[in-house]
Amino acid sequence: MFKALVVEKNEEGKTHAAVQELSLDQLPEGDVTVAVEYSTVNYKDGLCIGPGGGLVRNYPHIPGIDFAGTVEASDDARYKPGDKVVLTGWRVGEAYWGGYSQKARVKADWLVPLPDGLDTRQAMAVGTAGFTAMLAVMALEDHGIKDGPVLVTGAAGGVGSVATAILANLGHPVAAVTGRPETTDYLTSLGATQIVAREEINETTKRPLEAETWGGCVDAVGGDMLARVLGQMKYGASVSAVGLAGGAGLPATVIPFLLRGVNLLGIDSVMQPYDNRVRAWARIAKDLPMDKLEAMIQPATLSDLPDLGRGILKGQVKGRVVVDVKG
Ligand code: NDP
Repeated sequence: MFKALVVEKNEEGKTHAAVQELSLDQLPEGDVTVAVEYSTVNYKDGLCIGPGGGLVRNYPHIPGIDFAGTVEASDDARYKPGDKVVLTGWRVGEAYWGGYSQKARVKADWLVPLPDGLDTRQAMAVGTAGFTAMLAVMALEDHGIKDGPVLVTGAAGGVGSVATAILANLGHPVAAVTGRPETTDYLTSLGATQIVAREEINETTKRPLEAETWGGCVDAVGGDMLARVLGQMKYGASVSAVGLAGGAGLPATVIPFLLRGVNLLGIDSVMQPYDNRVRAWARIAKDLPMDKLEAMIQPATLSDLPDLGRGILKGQVKGRVVVDVKG
């Protein structure tokens, strides 16, 4: 028997999440069975645990869009018992049972071997948010980061914290946008060289073009924030659009693209091919300082998850929640 956070839906359509004991024969079919050690809390997990059910396809459901652990059994030649593995994406935790479970059975294609230099706890301190932050930085690099500060929006959140730490470690000046002034010391400790209040961006003129300010941007917020930022980018600079914590709309004009050659790069962590995932995890192990990663961690257990799910949807979570699933 093993423990998992199971979300059930009753006849009135109300969902309820609770830790339950399950047996191995209840797991879905798959090539590899993993003893899960750690998982995390991402924005999508908040949606999947919460009352609306968000992205959940079928009930009962085990959320958790990422996990790291040790292979227990494998029908696939690429993995053998004892191998350390990490999983992000592929709609695990949404359409398929996810990482809030001491055992998970998944397709071998969805896994990657844990890179040298990271243990399973560190891998989940990174998690989907940090993996996506790395993809966003790599996309900026592919298009060329211009001189000047690189802006990170939603900086105190998961994606923003990891993006700030990686960019600073690579030697870029980082301007961190936050709506929580109390996170200033935290963001500075991650390497931010400038703290920008959320209102400073949101309440700018709404003219399609403003002073050329940012050499690149990792945007976790979308909405009005992204629209304003587009008009503040340096000529030819790029914005990696990662998230929509501030809204899915984009009330922008085409002017920054036409007159400043700004690139808007969409970042999707879910369907990344295997080689890209391996490349991004290797870069994380190399370019993310582990002491800064430690500073981002908020530890949690399976039974904390319903509260944490509500918190992340309200933008109240700082850094990265690491769920000790095995404990
Ligand atoms: P978090 O909740 O940890 O961080 C989001 C941050 O955005 C908050 O901490 C807050 O930062 C800021 N924020 C929240 N609400 C607002 C608002 N109304 N206006 C302006 N800023 C706001 O989430 P994650 O970092 O894990 O994820 C961020 C986004 O990225 C989410 O939308 C998520 O779904 C998406 N995402 C996308 C992925 C992809 O593959 N494209 C993968 C992973 C995540 P602060 O307090 O500093 O202002």
